[in-house]
Amino acid sequence: MNLLIMGLPGAGKGTQAAKIVDKFHVAHISTGDMFRAAMANQTEMGVLAKSYIDKGELVPDEVTNGIVKERLAQDDIKAHGFLLDGYPRTIEQAHALDETLASLGIELEGVINIQVDPASLLERLSGRIIHKETGETFHKVFNPPAGDYNEEDYYQREDDKPETVKRRLDVNIAQGEPIIEHYRAKGLVHDIEGNQEIDTVFADIEKVLTKLQ
Ligand code: ADP
Ligand code: AMP
Repeated sequence: MNLLIMGLPGAGKGTQAAKIVDKFHVAHISTGDMFRAAMANQTEMGVLAKSYIDKGELVPDEVTNGIVKERLAQDDIKAHGFLLDGYPRTIEQAHALDETLASLGIELEGVINIQVDPASLLERLSGRIIHKETGETFHKVFNPPAGDYNEEDYYQREDDKPETVKRRLDVNIAQGEPIIEHYRAKGLVHDIEGNQEIDTVFADIEKVLTKLQ
């Protein structure tokens, strides 16, 4: 299956993507994860991306489109399908993705659109913690790691600080609607109620994907 997962920052894309990948074995392509890996390795692209990410701004389209195109051209994609997470985030990226997929002879089959009340996102993002070793995402209150966990094994994302979160939400709200409309016009969008328990959200997604398969 060739899929997108969309939603505002904190909607639960990464959390649900991990479950989708586990069950449906598609390749998870997260532009945010790719940028964070590049930042950690201090590559030229990572240094450039950091200058935008730290301010809550989007990385320029030509950079983002380039890394996605390169990733989609790899051999595992045609064999297993993909789940794009955090891309496209501008209508220009959506058009670039259409062209990339057409040039590779790949058809997009569905867009999972996780809808959440924006007011709940600040709480979700400010409590988000990530396991240093595995990269797995948790939440201090809503989805804590099992047992008596050691806080030192987890980190908080730099861009989850309240000042940056506000800008990220504004940017994503402003850019998001035309993208969803672009895919709605193609009949690809499946709206999912994101203000539910994590497992309930996944059960709803699973129903959609089982039908699509
Ligand atoms: P995104 O990838 O869309 O930015 P995440 O999957 O990282 O979002 O989720 C943001 C935070 O909210 C994480 O701390 C995650 O554990 C938590 N979270 C995800 N889904 C839910 C949910 N349905 N209810 C409550 N908290 C959630
Ligand atoms: P995410 O992990 O998806 O929340 O992304 C973290 C940050 O990386 C975003 O706030 C952006 O600065 C940047 N980023 C991720 N995906 C994109 C994209 N498709 N276009 C532009 N910037 C992106």
